[in-house]
Amino acid sequence: MNKTFKTSVLEYAKTLGIPFVGIAGDGATYSKIVCLFPYYTGKKNMGNLSLYAYGKDYHTICGEYLLKIADYIREHFPLAKTAIHVDKGDGNDKEAAFLAGLGFYGKNTLIINETYGSFVFIGYVETDVILPPDAPLSVSCIGCGKCEKACPGGALKNGKLDEAKCASYISQKKGALSEEETAIIRKSGLLWGCDTCQTVCPHNEAAKITPLKAFSEDLIFSLSHLTVSNKAFLSLYGDRAFSWRGKSVINRNLEVISLHETNRDGHTI
Ligand code: SF4
Ligand code: SF4
Repeated sequence: MNKTFKTSVLEYAKTLGIPFVGIAGDGATYSKIVCLFPYYTGKKNMGNLSLYAYGKDYHTICGEYLLKIADYIREHFPLAKTAIHVDKGDGNDKEAAFLAGLGFYGKNTLIINETYGSFVFIGYVETDVILPPDAPLSVSCIGCGKCEKACPGGALKNGKLDEAKCASYISQKKGALSEEETAIIRKSGLLWGCDTCQTVCPHNEAAKITPLKAFSEDLIFSLSHLTVSNKAFLSLYGDRAFSWRGKSVINRNLEVISLHETNRDGHTI
């Protein structure tokens, strides 16, 4: 195992501005250089988008950082294999961050970092250069249960997430929604994503603002009904995480939450 290079690659990642970096791996066949990318801007409840969607698409931004780390590895080990991973939806990123000692699991199933709370994107570079792994933290969330109680879909139970009842997952589904799904989105009040299990969490009360400019500049908080062509939509919003499902999903969700707002005012649709 290469202790010296571990120090070197961690320092390099920090020079890029990534505040939390650690190593996961089996110490024999692979290593993961795991990075946390904080995204909290200090602004909450600004519109109808989830906090993570205010800034530019994290897949692109985090991917750019990880590619630099992969290049750095190959500069030192020209034959090294490297692959970058950003949110492939398989939970591997959270597990890697936990194993690398970058945070602990909350009952909301998210990784919570001591400084930036759960408002972090996770990405990692996997390589066959063997680096000594870090140790997981021996702390856990305080278990207050606020996330479970506040969840608009009742999707959280005993530290497990039922994706089918999660507003964030539902808001990204294509096609027609069931009555139950529609009700969950209405309750969440957002047309893309859901922040509830994060904003109620005491571990996020003092979450620091991101030091990464890419996530704190050029923010979009809200969308209104989109009448532009698909091509124009992509040209306007192609650099945003909410664009990947296309404008029809956005318009469908907007209709759902707008009906909700109108109903609350007592007006007939
Ligand atoms: S994102 Fe929203 S709907 Fe999904 S588990 Fe958290 S609170 Fe529940
Ligand atoms: S809201 Fe409470 S139970 Fe849920 S993750 Fe945060 S500390 Fe844990």
